[in-house]
Amino acid sequence: MAAPKNIIGSSGKASDCIFCKIVEGGLPAYKVYEDANTLAFLDIFPIHPGHVLVISKRHTVDIFDTPEEDLKSIIAAAKKISPAVMKATKADGINIGMNNKPASGQVVMHAHIHVIPRFKDDGLKTWPQRPYNNDAEKGHVAAAIKNAL
Ligand code: 5GP
Ligand code: ZN
Repeated sequence: MAAPKNIIGSSGKASDCIFCKIVEGGLPAYKVYEDANTLAFLDIFPIHPGHVLVISKRHTVDIFDTPEEDLKSIIAAAKKISPAVMKATKADGINIGMNNKPASGQVVMHAHIHVIPRFKDDGLKTWPQRPYNNDAEKGHVAAAIKNAL
């Protein structure tokens, strides 16, 4: 029988998670920052060199199951790392991003924040945007979100 996926043991590590393996030292990574709760390392396939991933050492999957304290730790680490990435790469800006669930583009199921150096005229586009069809559409979706909270 195939091994169960993403089983979290008492250590808080998922059994088949590549980012947990990086935390444990079982997979190599170019680490740039570490503290008691967080680790940051180069993305193996960067948008630009210096693209860093910030993770909590405790395995969670995405924003939905990550405790607030862990989210605070990784955003605080991203706040520390961002000016260093700016300086080291001579970037003109930084994108901070988090993909949650495959539909958003998440491929590694260990919650992480991307710190991405950006450059004037680097030619990258963010997502395509469009206007709302009408005010009713805006009101409907705003009310649906408020009611879901
Ligand atoms: P996601 O699309 O899940 O938000 O981003 C996952 C990121 O992890 C990708 O940008 C990918 O390049 C990076 N990545 C995947 N496998 C590895 C790995 O083994 N080591 C490192 N350092 N980065 C990885
Ligand atoms: Zn993990």
